[in-house]
Amino acid sequence: MAEQESTFPVSENAPSGPEQQQLPDADAYFSLGDPIADTKAPGGPIESRWSERKFGAKLVNPANRRKLSVIIVGTGLAGASAAATLGESGYQVKSFCYQDSPRRAHSIAAQGGINAAKNYRNDGDSTFRLFYDTVKGGDYRSRESNVYRLAEVSANIIDQCVAQGVPFAREYGGLLDTRSFGGVQVQRTFYARGQTGQQLLLGAYQALERQIAAGTVTMYAKHDMLELVVADGRARGIVVRDLTTGEIETHFADVVVLATGGYGNVFFLSTNAMGSNVTAAWRAHRKGAYFANPCYTQIHPTCIPVSGDYQSKLTLMSESLRNDGRIWVPKSGEDTREARDIPEDERDYYLERRYPAFGNLVPRDIASRAAKAVCDEGRGVGPGGLGVYLDFADAIKRLGRKAVEAKYGNLFDMYAQITGEDPYETPMRIYPAVHYTMGGLWVDYDLQSTIPGLFVTGEANFSDHGANRLGASALMQGLADGYFVLPNTIADYLADGPFEKIDDTHPAAVEAVTEVTDRVQKLLSVKGTRTVDSFHRELGQIMWEYCGMERSEEGLRKAIGMIRELREAFWNDVLVPGSGNDLNQSLERAGRVADFLELGELMCVDALHRRESCGGHFRAESQTEDGEALRHDDQFAYVAAWEFTGTGQQPVLHKEDLVYEFVEMKQRSYK
Ligand SMILES: Cc1cc2nc3c(=O)[nH]c(=O)nc-3n(C[C@H](O)[C@H](O)[C@H](O)COP(=O)(O)OP(=O)(O)OC[C@H]3O[C@@H](n4cnc5c(N)ncnc54)[C@H](O)[C@@H]3O)c2cc1C
Repeated sequence: MAEQESTFPVSENAPSGPEQQQLPDADAYFSLGDPIADTKAPGGPIESRWSERKFGAKLVNPANRRKLSVIIVGTGLAGASAAATLGESGYQVKSFCYQDSPRRAHSIAAQGGINAAKNYRNDGDSTFRLFYDTVKGGDYRSRESNVYRLAEVSANIIDQCVAQGVPFAREYGGLLDTRSFGGVQVQRTFYARGQTGQQLLLGAYQALERQIAAGTVTMYAKHDMLELVVADGRARGIVVRDLTTGEIETHFADVVVLATGGYGNVFFLSTNAMGSNVTAAWRAHRKGAYFANPCYTQIHPTCIPVSGDYQSKLTLMSESLRNDGRIWVPKSGEDTREARDIPEDERDYYLERRYPAFGNLVPRDIASRAAKAVCDEGRGVGPGGLGVYLDFADAIKRLGRKAVEAKYGNLFDMYAQITGEDPYETPMRIYPAVHYTMGGLWVDYDLQSTIPGLFVTGEANFSDHGANRLGASALMQGLADGYFVLPNTIADYLADGPFEKIDDTHPAAVEAVTEVTDRVQKLLSVKGTRTVDSFHRELGQIMWEYCGMERSEEGLRKAIGMIRELREAFWNDVLVPGSGNDLNQSLERAGRVADFLELGELMCVDALHRRESCGGHFRAESQTEDGEALRHDDQFAYVAAWEFTGTGQQPVLHKEDLVYEFVEMKQRSYK
């Protein structure tokens, strides 16, 4: 489909030339800095770029690896796989997580599966097709080189995990089974029932434990990273708080890796684990690491709807359910009958109707917006009309209850326990919810941030998914980064080490520790009247209302003002009971919410400046006649990398141009 006219006069406000995208009152929100380039990105044929980069990268010989130290914060799939691999390679690794065990990282919650271009089904899959689907799925806002590499190593991940004993689902004959996820027409998703993340994490965790036992990795569980130490222009350490004793500690190394996950909890209600946070990434951002595309948030279409004000968490119903479940609402908004009493011809299977080629398996951004649209029309189901049906009646009739149970049993049980309804008998009710953040710290092809010696992997970086991530590709990216990419690229940096030893007396370390202790004291000393959660909930409401599924110029400006006021109120009126000398979960949460209050503003500024719709970023003013996202490639085909200049100060925008040599940029169509 050809590009269509915008219903929003972007061109009036966006002159061509280097000063383009300066909003009329841009000074109020941000300033424009120099462009940024990915200097590690190789050129040439896409198939050979990763091999070229690996060959061009410096190596560290095994005897020298023992002299080099690596800090890895995070033990999810991205962090655990990196720590295990680098430990096995012979580096001295220190691994950190805030949970009581590395195997409790949020990756354990992942349900549906992991993609790989194995083409076991012989259904036309290939590395190139996975690359193409991912670039298109990301609405042409990701880097071709990165995405191709991801597709290329995807097949190795499955082999690695099978070798570790990960119990992927198998067909009757013993071969690995696969299923479909949204935005693709092949079956390339490997899975372990609805517990794929758990099984993959157990694989990475046992590899990590093996290295802990071998002495190459030292594990620090229940340690919260609160600051980065940047000494003489390089990331050289972190400041952590021991969550049990309250003690503030410093740890130093030749290089620091952040694998600290996503920041969806800025919305308060999300499918993320309660502890998921932005603190490590945000502290690095404040120290000079650029934050890329912060407004790109994934809203997942199949979550259990919000059921009341008391809720602090939302539950995902895996996308895999869209393989067999059919999504519908009544044709009439007046229809109050029970789902089973509504005859076929009075139902609107709106995804199948609007997107016949992909049907219920359109990408998440499209399915979410379509659900919102039918609910906005007054045809939503359940309390408050914020829900649509996900119906398995046809699948049960076609495959039998047993087969459906075998594929999705644990998800059905979860749904029944939470809602009290039996999804074998009556359709599930689902509604979109915040799920994943495509934005994150800017990294180059080597996964290095703008701070030398600070590498970022997994959901914490921005690199591979553009404006919308396809289902089952986060696990793929986390493990690609940790098992295959970082171990190669980090050596290129470490080959120049070991760097001069630093300790607690280095001015950068003293400064970082002082920042942490001052902040802890400040949070404890406000002694206001409002709980941390009440601020978090209010921030979440602002973000969801104005920077959620649909954004507008007016709404975003309003949100920025509201967030600034809320941040001020927080620092004047927050109540953090207890002390800093022992376990204090209010204090932990307060620090995280303080960072969300800064991040939220940047997300809105990013969303405001991007006057186009793309993937998960839907600007009301920029849509096609039939309500699809309308991009403006002539003006916005770039990564927005933001530089921190001070709390409440204008951030500086650095643009990295996105060049498409192998995939043609088109208006996305799933029809
Ligand atoms: C319910 C759910 C289901 C999902 N299902 C799928 C799926 O089927 N397929 C798919 O591909 N993706 C899925 N995803 C997405 C995927 O699970 C995540 O994107 C991925 O697991 C993130 O891995 P990670 O290693 O980057 O981070 P995480 O697993 O979030 O790990 C973060 C780590 O960082 C540590 N950490 C964070 N902050 C600090 C700090 N300040 N100090 C110390 N440590 C810190 C934590 O302790 C943790 O160890 C799902 C997500 C959700 C929410």
